[in-house]
Amino acid sequence: VVGGGLFAGYLDVLALEIRRQWVEPLVFAGKHVVWTAPAANLALAALVAIGVLILAAALRRRDAWWIVLWILGWLAGFGALYNFPQIHRVAAILLAAGIATLVTRWGRRREQGFRRTLRLAAPVLALATLVLAGVLTGRERRRERDAIARLPAAREGAPNVLLLVLDTVRAMSLSLYGYHRETTPNLTRWGARGVAFTNAYSTAPWTLPSHASLLTGRWMHELSADWLVPLDATFPTLGEALARAGYRTAGFVANTDYCSAEVGLDRGFAHYEDYTLTIGQILRSAALWRGIARIELIRKVVGTHDALGRKTAPAIGAAFLRWRDRDHRRPYFAMLNYYDAHRPYLPPEPWPRRFTSPGVPLNPRLRKENGSEPNPAPARIQGAIDAYDNAIAYLDHQLGRLLDTLDARGELANTVVIVTSDHGEEFYEHGVWDHGNSLSGPSVRVPLLVVAPGRAPAGNRVATAVSNRDVPATVMDLLGLTDSFPGRSLGVHWREKPEAIGADPVFSGVRQVPRQPISYPVTRGNMGSVVLDSLRYVRHFGDHREELFDPRTDPLERRDLIADPRLRERLPALRALTQGWFPPTS
Ligand SMILES: [Zn+2]
Repeated sequence: VVGGGLFAGYLDVLALEIRRQWVEPLVFAGKHVVWTAPAANLALAALVAIGVLILAAALRRRDAWWIVLWILGWLAGFGALYNFPQIHRVAAILLAAGIATLVTRWGRRREQGFRRTLRLAAPVLALATLVLAGVLTGRERRRERDAIARLPAAREGAPNVLLLVLDTVRAMSLSLYGYHRETTPNLTRWGARGVAFTNAYSTAPWTLPSHASLLTGRWMHELSADWLVPLDATFPTLGEALARAGYRTAGFVANTDYCSAEVGLDRGFAHYEDYTLTIGQILRSAALWRGIARIELIRKVVGTHDALGRKTAPAIGAAFLRWRDRDHRRPYFAMLNYYDAHRPYLPPEPWPRRFTSPGVPLNPRLRKENGSEPNPAPARIQGAIDAYDNAIAYLDHQLGRLLDTLDARGELANTVVIVTSDHGEEFYEHGVWDHGNSLSGPSVRVPLLVVAPGRAPAGNRVATAVSNRDVPATVMDLLGLTDSFPGRSLGVHWREKPEAIGADPVFSGVRQVPRQPISYPVTRGNMGSVVLDSLRYVRHFGDHREELFDPRTDPLERRDLIADPRLRERLPALRALTQGWFPPTS
């Protein structure tokens, strides 16, 4: 059983590597997968074996061993094939059954030798797993230690930098910005101690390019980062710049899909926690456990529909504080990515009951429905919004706790805190669910707060349109560092009068997404948008459609002004700004 379980794990890792090499470059597995997948498969094999042996004893069957072997063979085959979404599940089930039957038959014919091989394999594979675990964990620690040892001295009294990214939190759902439900009392409280930007846009409606902009200051269309392409090393990152200034740097990300080291966001961080070694995350590293976690019946029995191994806000906060307390001699730069408001919106009790609508069941959107729910009933939409609002309220509560903890230690007096989001979320306001599928306001308008006592004034609100790509330039400015990042410091907005600040176009973009409903804007081609002088222009590069909105008078962007003759003369400049964003690839 030990040999079989571990063997299944290594087959799983092999399949993942094949997928990475020849099918798609991003497989969303951490480097520990080479030993966590075998460990997780071993746990499953043990469970299966115990079950079968108990059953066999009850039925007084003596060939239980072969049944266990057959099942393990099937699991190993199916687990490996499960790594390829391109292979139909039924085909994988049948193929794995065929392989298991062949192996079992072959084993029965050469029983002595077969048993000997398995007995030998168990300790060898177990040792390999332990060695891999030790080597990888040790290497990680050593790398961080060496990186810190190489840092130059930091300036005396240099402030810490804390970047809090609330994944999938749209500006319009926050009471901080006037939402009718009190979803964010804590952000409102903290916002009053700094500057709140009421018209901030993310550079993209989804995680990877937006985080890449937050760290490089580059627009989405300048970056390599895409659905299947990691961020390359072309542009320097904020972490690299701050490390050069003597900062300890760390990232703690709950979005292990598009914030992991695999997608290139770890560059510049001496310490990076994406896939953590919790039981849930270890199990999740094996394809079979991922498959099991998707089975509706099992979700019901276990009593949760949440993603296996999901990292919650308290876990992110605790990991950050642990790291912070290891060393108080240097200033730090930490990026915390929170995933609690991302689908499925399942905050713990009592938060699911915070906001509800009479007669409307919560609709936490357990799966990416890919438009399988076109024209949803209003109650389905409201139920989803209720669940989302609850998730935001829970996240806000947790953020308040973290900031209060740091404040009580007196640490915030010398810390630049920036709170923002990587993108918003859509609830069918423009015929689309989720995010990453359009450039409509709900998917790109994000919160943005700068709380920096002594460096940014308290209680300031800025209505000028700004981009989250200005974060690196802002940090450099507030810290008085000379490394330059593109964009301009948000500091100009509280230092200068609005009329003294020149117009600065704010761009957002998204590349075409295959396999989405044809009604979704991104299915038909790349998209770009620009906010300039109170107008927002949206360009559909696929079908050459254009839209024009005035978010000041029409915040929900319901009136398309593209045909308005009074605005016709503004169009050439807006078109020119989006020209050549996506050079055709042949
Ligand atoms: Zn995201």
